Amino acid sequence: MSQPLIVLEQIVKRYRLGDTDFEALRGVSLNIARNEYVALVGPSGSGKSTLMNLIGCLDTPTSGSYRLNDRDVATLNDNELAAIRNQEIGFVFQSFHLLPRMDVLGNVAQPLVYRGLPLREREKLASESLRRVGLGDKLRHRPNQLSGGQRQRVAVARALVGHPSLLLADEPTGNLDSKTSEEIMALFDALHRDGQTVVLVTHEPDIAAHCQRTVRVSDGHIVFDSLAESAVPA
Ligand code: ADP
Ligand code: MG
Repeated sequence: MSQPLIVLEQIVKRYRLGDTDFEALRGVSLNIARNEYVALVGPSGSGKSTLMNLIGCLDTPTSGSYRLNDRDVATLNDNELAAIRNQEIGFVFQSFHLLPRMDVLGNVAQPLVYRGLPLREREKLASESLRRVGLGDKLRHRPNQLSGGQRQRVAVARALVGHPSLLLADEPTGNLDSKTSEEIMALFDALHRDGQTVVLVTHEPDIAAHCQRTVRVSDGHIVFDSLAESAVPA
C-alpha cells in the first residue's frame, strides 16, 4: 500500500517576533492522498499560508514530522528543500510571480533549468505545458501583454512543467474578477480530473466549492475537515 502523498504530524510553526515567539501553527496533523482536491480555508491570519509554505517545502516546521511522497522533509536544509521543491511541487501564487523581462515560454521553461535539461528540451516541454492551459498561441508574448487570467494560466503552466506530484495554489484567484476566477477554477478542475493532486488556499466559499474536500484552519489549528466529517457514521 502506498502512503498518502502528504503526511503531517503534530506540526508546530513558531515565528520569532522581536523577543517574543508567535505560534502560527499549533499542532497540525493532516494526511492528503494522491489525486485529492483540497481547499484550505479560514480567516485571515489563521495560518493558511504558513501551512501551505510548509507543505510546499518553502519552509520547515519548528517541530513535528512531515513526509512528502514517502520522504522525510521536515529536517532538510535549504539546498535539499530546493531540490525537493523542484521535483515534487508546483506553486501558484495570488500575484502570479512571473518574470517581466522574459517571454511566456521562458517563464514556463524556467524551473527546468535546475534539472539540467538542454534549451530545446526545456522549450518543448514548456510549450506543451502552455498548450495544456490554452495558451499555445502566446509563447512569445511578455507577461504585460496578457490579461490577469492569462498571466495566472502562465503561472499554472510553469507550475506543471516539471510534472510535480503536487500542485499548490495560495489564493490563486485573489487578484482576479469572478468570471476569470471561474475560468481558472475550471482549469484546476480539469487538472484534477486528469489525476493531479491539488491543494489550494482560499477564503471564498465559491472557490472552495470546486474542491472535494475542505479543511478549515483557525488560530493555527485544524478545526474542521470535511473528509473526517463524512467518515463519521451517520
Ligand atoms: P493566513 O494565510 O491564514 O492569512 P498566515 O499563515 O500568513 O495566515 O499567518 C498566520 C500568522 O502568523 C499571522 O498572525 C501572521 O502575522 C504570522 N506570521 C506569518 N508569517 C510570519 C513571519 N514570517 N514572521 C512572523 N509572523 C508571521
Ligand atoms: Mg495567506
